Amino acid sequence: MTEPILQARNVVKRYGRFTAVNGVSIDVLPHTVHSVIGPNGAGKTTLFHALTGTVPLTSGQILVDSVDISTLPGFKRVRKGLARSFQVTSLFPNLTVLENLRLAAQGVDAVQALHPWRRPESFKAACETATSLAERLNLTLVRFRPAGELSHGQQRRLEVGMALAARPKVIFLDEPTSGMGVDDIGDMKQLIFSLRSDYTVVLIEHNMDIVMDISDTITVMQLGQVLVEGAPDAVRCDERVRSAYLGSM
Ligand code: ATP
Repeated sequence: MTEPILQARNVVKRYGRFTAVNGVSIDVLPHTVHSVIGPNGAGKTTLFHALTGTVPLTSGQILVDSVDISTLPGFKRVRKGLARSFQVTSLFPNLTVLENLRLAAQGVDAVQALHPWRRPESFKAACETATSLAERLNLTLVRFRPAGELSHGQQRRLEVGMALAARPKVIFLDEPTSGMGVDDIGDMKQLIFSLRSDYTVVLIEHNMDIVMDISDTITVMQLGQVLVEGAPDAVRCDERVRSAYLGSM
């Protein structure tokens, strides 16, 4: 049986007296796309924050490859193999695509400026990583253009690349297609699906067509708890999910 690469066990996150995540347990299997969906305010982003260490847990456990990382701060979880894609602010707009990716491979980006906890690559290795990531992101043709001049869709793909440069085991993507047009959505969907061969993807996404097409497993959250978990077809047909989404699926 395949062991989960990431496990959340009874995770609780309270903000004051408000419980945003209330006893969530999930098992994420390696080389899968595991999506977390649910109505607005269901607790999806808070769960991401708790898993990646952006906020401390109130209680519960998080394990990566069966190692308990619950008390590690976010920057140490990067070394354990968890990476998260940020919004466009993590790009250096005046630097080229390759320069952004090379700096990320060397442990630098515009959000954190410097990641001393990463094992930075040598200049030569980082250049090679940048070139192969640009190809993977379908950004080879624009590799010498400043990041600030890219289209929205290209910038979002580059954001994913900045996280991949940390060589994660698990990459967390929070609404990677938000604000995109149809063509860019198609490119992002293809990219996410292709990541399964080398990484494990945990995805928050409101676009149900994408979620249903590329997920191996879907966790549906409602009011801070897991409502349903399963394969896309089972989730799509589940009456509880249909009523949580008011029949929009
Ligand atoms: P959306 O799809 O709209 O992004 P979500 O499922 O990601 O929603 P969260 O952003 O995790 O939901 O929010 C869950 C609940 O926790 C919401 O009611 C929100 O108002 C509350 N919440 C989130 N962050 C905080 C905070 N820092 N302090 C207090 N309450 C918070």
